[in-house]
Amino acid sequence: MLDWFKKKFSDDMGIDLGTANTLVYVKGKGIVVNEPSVVAINQKTGQVVAVGKDAYKMVGRTPGHVVAVKPLVDGVISNFEATEEMLAHFIRLAMDVSGKKLLGPRVVVGIPSGITNVEKRAVRDAARNAGAREAHLIEEPMAGAIGTKLPVNDAVGSMVVDIGGGTTDIAVISLGGIVSSKNLRIAGNKLNDDIINYIREEFKILIGEKTAENIKIAIGSATELDEPLEMKIRGRDLVTGLPREINITDADIREATGPSLAAVVESVKEVLENTPPEVVADVMHRGLVLLGGGALITNFAKLLEEELKVPVYIAEDPLTCVVRGAGFVLEDLANFSSVLVEGDDELPI
Ligand code: ADP
Ligand code: MG
Repeated sequence: MLDWFKKKFSDDMGIDLGTANTLVYVKGKGIVVNEPSVVAINQKTGQVVAVGKDAYKMVGRTPGHVVAVKPLVDGVISNFEATEEMLAHFIRLAMDVSGKKLLGPRVVVGIPSGITNVEKRAVRDAARNAGAREAHLIEEPMAGAIGTKLPVNDAVGSMVVDIGGGTTDIAVISLGGIVSSKNLRIAGNKLNDDIINYIREEFKILIGEKTAENIKIAIGSATELDEPLEMKIRGRDLVTGLPREINITDADIREATGPSLAAVVESVKEVLENTPPEVVADVMHRGLVLLGGGALITNFAKLLEEELKVPVYIAEDPLTCVVRGAGFVLEDLANFSSVLVEGDDELPI
């Protein structure tokens, strides 16, 4: 009876609290929220003015007293209050979509690996304050591995490399636990910064973050392309102060982002070196899976494969693996209990 009641009047939600994007998956409904992890705050009043898509539109365009912040940039919670407000906003949004509001939802939140206990508590508290009746946490690479249907509970090594906005998470998983891992702050945002710096140095032109991101997605690549690509971009000439248009090529962007991509490759090697030999043998044989938006960097899988001599696969729909994995965990909590971050507690209803 109680189970029936819970099912009828509350939702199960998987949440990917990413540094670039937050997604919410509702059981039976699919992904109902997929928005940038951005909050706009009025500094005069301290109030949140906008969250998600609406706040993202304000990045680089806010009047002096409104700031658009990415509360999780760098993969750690750099702004607790903004993170709480954002999470609460998205949970409520998902509850509105599903209409089951009598009881709070049960949530599994994917958190960046390497966040501190204080930060974990903040995420749990935020979920509770937003009305969740149960809040479980899972490390994002684990959720991502489950989302791509890797056999995380088996006695076989699986490897994922999740390249997000603020962080890259590298993890080798076996028997429901993380065997070896590394978390580095070189990911999508760093590539954007590399592009901004390169264009400033080489062309004496200043471009914004969004332009850099567009360039990265349009003509970025990790190894030489069969067909060269070119793109016209606009920025502010640092000498005259006026707008100026230039042509840039895929080779320019490779030069700009090469060192960061090489650093990711090195870190993957390092994790493999720190993994027990039996498990490494599994990975050599079965390959590793790339997830997160950075999995879509043209030819990055090829570069990794060449450097590591290990098969590399790009996950299907790499930007949604983590949230789908969090959803699968909710559907089978008993089977996945070992993959959750310890310290969960359940509120009596
Ligand atoms: P997070 O989990 O940290 O929120 P995501 O997995 O959502 O991050 O990935 C966001 C990052 O992926 C951003 O830096 C974005 O620029 C990058 N990205 C998205 N699509 C592409 C693409 N096609 N090529 C290269 N990078 C991409
Ligand atoms: Mg992510």
